Amino acid sequence: MSAPRIAIIGAGPGGLTLASILQKNGVKCTIFELDASRTSRDQGGIVDLHSQAGQLALREAGILGGGGGGVEKNTIPLGEAMKLIKSDGTVCWDESHTKHVEHATSRDRPEILRSKLRDILLDSVEPASIQWNRKLVRVEQAEGTHIKYNLHFTDSVEEGFDLVVGTDGAWSRVRPLVTDVEPHYSGVTIVELKAAQASTKKQWLSNFMGTGTLFMFDKDRALASGNLGLGLWNRLAKARICKESFGKRYFADCHADLKCVIASEASNGLITRPLYMLPIGTKWAPRAGITLLGDAAHLITPFAGVGVNVTMADALSLSRAIIERKDDFGVDPNTSLAEAIKEYEEPMFERARENMEMTWSGLEGHFSVDGIDQLVRLLEGQIKMEAMIAVEKLETS
Ligand SMILES: Cc1cc2nc3c(=O)[nH]c(=O)nc-3n(C[C@H](O)[C@H](O)[C@H](O)COP(=O)(O)OP(=O)(O)OC[C@H]3O[C@@H](n4cnc5c(N)ncnc54)[C@H](O)[C@@H]3O)c2cc1C
Repeated sequence: MSAPRIAIIGAGPGGLTLASILQKNGVKCTIFELDASRTSRDQGGIVDLHSQAGQLALREAGILGGGGGGVEKNTIPLGEAMKLIKSDGTVCWDESHTKHVEHATSRDRPEILRSKLRDILLDSVEPASIQWNRKLVRVEQAEGTHIKYNLHFTDSVEEGFDLVVGTDGAWSRVRPLVTDVEPHYSGVTIVELKAAQASTKKQWLSNFMGTGTLFMFDKDRALASGNLGLGLWNRLAKARICKESFGKRYFADCHADLKCVIASEASNGLITRPLYMLPIGTKWAPRAGITLLGDAAHLITPFAGVGVNVTMADALSLSRAIIERKDDFGVDPNTSLAEAIKEYEEPMFERARENMEMTWSGLEGHFSVDGIDQLVRLLEGQIKMEAMIAVEKLETS
């Protein structure tokens, strides 16, 4: 039997990390991406890379360190610094300007622009293995004794895949093959404004935002700004919102500085983004030749800042399960791939459930009257914990 044909749908962080690790280990795969090219779409803001998830997967792909092209060299200096402010303007935490600065780096969650991460990942896969401008419409199981799948794109069909991995995000076209579950509105809508050229053209705005991310959390509303621009976040029944009056309507009683930030950017960008999520605990019975990872499997809101990391942890564990069996592919690829899917999915469901629960409680906590106080307590707790660990290490050394 020949090597199995593996299709990865979507060239986001999940699909590219999976492809990169597989190819580095001699497992061939093809990525089908709906974007026309690597530059055809704005990739959005920043993501942080956790040591035990994103960084681990990138290390396995061989692109974490190593020269100017590695991820570590391209993170944003002090991009992980947090500034927390209340709606009345009280600054409760500021890691970019105060004694907390060391704490920001000790979390070991460096931030990187999504576009930079995607570029590094794209450069790490075989160029001929990516097919751009291929929008998957549906997947169907082919007739025959062996389990194979055909991919229907907008204008063509690709036949005979032994494994199809859906890494095509929130509205996955692969998901219907394993579950009927669909994303639902989370109750939070973002109005994105662009803090365009804040660091060069608007020094006061840049100083106010700090080097990393500024958050204001309050009952049913939030403001987040940083390298990614500026977002106004509201808990809203899904309703038509007037983007232009959004700031005035929901943030009118905020401190003058915050209103000034909103007013200065209100004419830029203005993209409305309702946030969707999959039900906590989403899972399915294993199906030979089909699996999902990342947002396709467990779409969450950003309120624990873990989405990309859980996605990369998925890519790492699925790639390991496949690579472990690559010597058996010549005998019976269907059986080995089915075993790999099973080995990957059970822990993935558990990891997803834990992160979905944490994210939901993050959403509930942040959008409450004492949202900022809760976050400050969490950060203080982390500092105490780090200090205790340091003392224990000293005592045992
Ligand atoms: C506002 C916001 C802030 C966030 N901040 C953070 C953060 O700080 N830290 C963090 O860890 N996570 C964060 N996340 C979450 C993170 O961005 C996602 O979890 C992560 O991008 C998921 O990766 P993915 O590869 O599964 O899907 P995606 O990134 O959605 O990629 C899917 C890819 O599939 C392609 N595609 C889609 N449909 C098709 C189709 N039919 N055919 C072919 N290709 C298709 C898309 O074009 C895309 O390239 C944030 C999310 C949001 C919305």
